[in-house]
Amino acid sequence: MISFSGLARMQSLKARNSRRLLFSLVATLLFRTYTIKFLNLFVNYFQLKEQHKATFPFLVKRRTRNLQILVYHRINDENDLFFPATPIKIFERQMDYLAHNFNVCDLETAVDRLRRADVPENAVVVTFDDGYRDNYLNAFPILKHFSIPATIFLATDAIDTGKVLWHDRIFGAFRKTQKAFLDMPGRMARRYSLTTSAEKLVAQNEVLGLLRVLGGRDRLRVIDEVVSKLGVSEDSAAGEDLMLTWDQIRAMQKSGIAFGSHTVTHPILSVLSVEEARAEIQQSKSIIEKELGTPISSFAYPNGSKKDYSDEIVEIVQEAGYSCAVTTIFGTNDSARQLFELRRATPWDEDIFCFGLRLNCYKLCA
Ligand SMILES: [Zn+2]
Repeated sequence: MISFSGLARMQSLKARNSRRLLFSLVATLLFRTYTIKFLNLFVNYFQLKEQHKATFPFLVKRRTRNLQILVYHRINDENDLFFPATPIKIFERQMDYLAHNFNVCDLETAVDRLRRADVPENAVVVTFDDGYRDNYLNAFPILKHFSIPATIFLATDAIDTGKVLWHDRIFGAFRKTQKAFLDMPGRMARRYSLTTSAEKLVAQNEVLGLLRVLGGRDRLRVIDEVVSKLGVSEDSAAGEDLMLTWDQIRAMQKSGIAFGSHTVTHPILSVLSVEEARAEIQQSKSIIEKELGTPISSFAYPNGSKKDYSDEIVEIVQEAGYSCAVTTIFGTNDSARQLFELRRATPWDEDIFCFGLRLNCYKLCA
């Protein structure tokens, strides 16, 4: 028998699938009839009204052009449910689309032009977070092929050290565990069933949420406990070839890929003390600068949602000598946007028509 909440979930899934299908049909129609070109002209001229959005007319003449920043993580065909990646072919199609329809800028130039309210039409920036090795193996050849500049934000503790970031330890442990359940320890006490992949994913996401509010040392202690309870031998959970090496980073740097800082250990900055946060923000910058022999001017907040950093953290990032910082808050950026809280969007659509339509639609937002 299906419970009421099960039925509600099925109905909302059905509604979501119907919306997706409709969006995909509209996208295909717009592209096949070349109407997308007119939509692009339209969104470059108009934007949604910011105040009193519900009042007519809903659109106003665009104040300034806006900049879209895309964020990727892993690019591979491993089909990993526990940390989904962008498949290589999809990434290639998206870069092909950007190269032929958008003005792909490097982050530094784009931010400079944003500062001067001089963003080029259809401007987009490509970024990657964390520093995964598949960025070099799979994304870099495609970026080179289409001459697309990109910025990779590195969490330096995991670069060339054989270490993995804390969230990758959790992904690896849930991926490999053979246990039927997990009893979460201490104040987070709760039993999670782990008999199917879907149950493991629910447990993994809830555990990640719980870990995100813990300070550095507490978080590491609980992660050790979770990994041990899941019966996974330490860091068979991840593997030594998960992250980039400095040689790979230098090879990409020579071909125009830029690098930014994503802290040392990828903590949630808002739960650290001011001293701990400052050390994470400053040290990662000096490590990358020393390895690459070039100033590092951009920063990405780990996890990057509004609750993952604070005004105090923004100040520390500015004091550390960065010239901009990116979040994972969804949106586009016009010249009114604070340069230390730039918004980004994750490329979500595997269908290239949907990808193109969504990039155009979201330009309306600012
Ligand atoms: Zn990250």
